[in-house]
Amino acid sequence: MKNLITGGAGFVGSHLTETLLARGEEVTIIDDLSTGDIRNILHLESNPRFTAVIDTIMKGSLVEELVKECNIVYHLAAAVGVKFVVEKPLESIQINVKGTEIILEAANRRRKKVVITSTSEIYGKGGKDAFCENDDMTLGPTTSHRWSYALSKGLDEILGLTYYREKSLPVVIARLFNTCGPRQRGRYGMVIPRFVQQALTEQPITVYGTGKQKRCFAYVGDVVEALITLAHKPEAEGEIFNIGNDEEISIEDLARLVKELTGSPSPIAYIPYDDAYEYGFEDMIKRAPDLTKIRNLIGYSPKVHLKELLERVIAYYRSRGLGQPGHEELL
Ligand code: UDP
Repeated sequence: MKNLITGGAGFVGSHLTETLLARGEEVTIIDDLSTGDIRNILHLESNPRFTAVIDTIMKGSLVEELVKECNIVYHLAAAVGVKFVVEKPLESIQINVKGTEIILEAANRRRKKVVITSTSEIYGKGGKDAFCENDDMTLGPTTSHRWSYALSKGLDEILGLTYYREKSLPVVIARLFNTCGPRQRGRYGMVIPRFVQQALTEQPITVYGTGKQKRCFAYVGDVVEALITLAHKPEAEGEIFNIGNDEEISIEDLARLVKELTGSPSPIAYIPYDDAYEYGFEDMIKRAPDLTKIRNLIGYSPKVHLKELLERVIAYYRSRGLGQPGHEELL
């Protein structure tokens, strides 16, 4: 099987690449390294079944060439992270909307299956205990940059579903909930790499707002296994699936757990949202996936739980010398 992964040098993309290569498959990635990192894929370069194209998916003719050569496209290239989206709203909208259009057009011309990764941001600030795939998008005003991310990914999903319905293009949509693990960067705002780096460098652990907001964290290895399984299930075509872990933790308790597991003396600092992001920033008090649909179709059951996930992230940063003299800066 020949796979094309857009955003393959990113955090999730590089894990997906590794897993597919380990299965004996061929992988070509395209990544412009805007939020991806060449260090995520350097160790794969000597593999003869691996090809890296460092370029943008905004180039239609290049994308078409790459799509032509593969059997399946995993479309992961996107603006990622709430902080990145709030700071670079225009770039985020362009890459998410135009980029996905280019991928789907090329896939349609070449009749190739596309797996689109979307996000739990789609559910917005709806207060349900656990979100189902057909729940409403409950978004705030367009003046708040956060919501442009959910809107742009929502449009990606609608595009994908429309290609499926009107052109019979095999499209699968996966909504990822707070995926974490080694290689995830803290600089785009994601909480686990930030807390672990802060703890290891003995800086204050920055809890935004009251810290009572809750999230569920999924291990990237579980997520990429689910993506691959869905990609090969005909019944998944034209459908949307939540992928994540449904065990909740408050951000305040997460900070305490990171402190305990690292043995760090870092204090826990509470930072108002307006200082952390932008004036008027809206956070959601909780966000958990209802996993019934993916469980029923592929028997999905996450194997790596939060403590082990954190231990793996801590070991990753320690192996890179974080917390040692000369490595104090955030990666
Ligand atoms: N957060 C935090 N401190 C940080 C970074 C994030 O308290 O240094 C909070 C953030 O406000 C949110 C939660 O952690 O409530 C998860 O944030 P992340 O950006 O990882 O994912 P989100 O669920 O917001 O997409």
